[in-house]
Amino acid sequence: MIGLALALALHPVLQDQDFSKVQVSTLKVTDGVYMLAGAGGNIGVSAGEDGVFLIDDEYAPLTDKIKAAIAAISDKPIRFLLNTHWHGDHTGGNENLGQGGVLIVAHENVRKRMSVEQFIETFKMKVPASPKAALPLVTFTDAVTFHLNGDEIHSFHVPPAHTDGDSIIHFRKSNVVHMGDCFFNGLYPFIDVSSGGSIDGMIGAADRVLGMTDAATKIMPGHGPLADRAALADFRDMLETVRARVQPMVAAGKTLEQVVAATPTKDLDEKWGKGFLKPDQFAGIVYGSLAKAKGAR
Ligand SMILES: [Zn+2]
Repeated sequence: MIGLALALALHPVLQDQDFSKVQVSTLKVTDGVYMLAGAGGNIGVSAGEDGVFLIDDEYAPLTDKIKAAIAAISDKPIRFLLNTHWHGDHTGGNENLGQGGVLIVAHENVRKRMSVEQFIETFKMKVPASPKAALPLVTFTDAVTFHLNGDEIHSFHVPPAHTDGDSIIHFRKSNVVHMGDCFFNGLYPFIDVSSGGSIDGMIGAADRVLGMTDAATKIMPGHGPLADRAALADFRDMLETVRARVQPMVAAGKTLEQVVAATPTKDLDEKWGKGFLKPDQFAGIVYGSLAKAKGAR
């Protein structure tokens, strides 16, 4: 279903899919913190005496189901929504929630990109500008902290990784992290190089979180099941391995076709290649990222 969700997010032809059969599941991560999963990016929730704080909101047709899932956790209003990045499978419910008075917060590049038409090169996909009510009302450049529900919910920007507007959210007291699409648990990640993302940034984001967590930390990925530090370390090692194989080919001036034909992920595909992104596509993305970095030097 993860593959389908991503396909829905990123495939223009599938945008009008019927969401009526999608169910939103609720997983308790720790006291007061939950992960909701339907179609699209995993949703993080902090619920307590001060109200509900939401991370990402999947697709617009799912807003009522998401609200129902939240109502089963808490009778308090949704006060804040934080977007981990601009992609439609994480921000599709923004307009509904924004119109309902939820304060939307994100890195400034999320608002910038949502304000004008975008083009996702990997999928040759045009994304129209979002309506005003969907745009983050509050933006930040480096970090912002929410003092809510007895926790410190610290959202910080990392150098361009999945996009150039990524936030990672650390629930400091609950020992929970939501990484948005800087982490795909158990599957090759989409890296949106045309939105400023890069393989080196993805590795850097993983290193940053590995450096601030312990074996007990619960980590919500953008896609895939709830994870821990060991799963993130596996993901980081996979990224590093593929990078180390593709980089010399880029340095030697190989073409995209030659790099894909060399099957640099072959022994990793059994474990990581069963999601929406096929091995050839992932190899192509890593090539694109490293070639862009080479061209920029
Ligand atoms: Zn994304």
